[in-house]
Amino acid sequence: TYIVTDNCIKCKYTDCVEVCPVDCFYEGENMLVIHPDECIDCGVCEPECPAEAIRPDTESGLDKWLEINTKYASIW
Ligand code: SF4
Repeated sequence: TYIVTDNCIKCKYTDCVEVCPVDCFYEGENMLVIHPDECIDCGVCEPECPAEAIRPDTESGLDKWLEINTKYASIW
């Protein structure tokens, strides 16, 4: 899965939401999040993000952000 990280905070771009084929972006508290179970790992959103906030969860050190994405995506 891909996850949204801190560069997204208060970002006003929604390019990622528009390209996601499965609509798995959700509103977090002050950023967007990706639902980890709905994301099909296609990767098209990553280059669309002007803030470079979208990272693959295979990158290290992102546990905290995976938690935040899961939490806010599951509220809806
Ligand atoms: Fe959506 Fe693909 Fe990005 Fe996952 S990797 S959030 S499915 S655009």
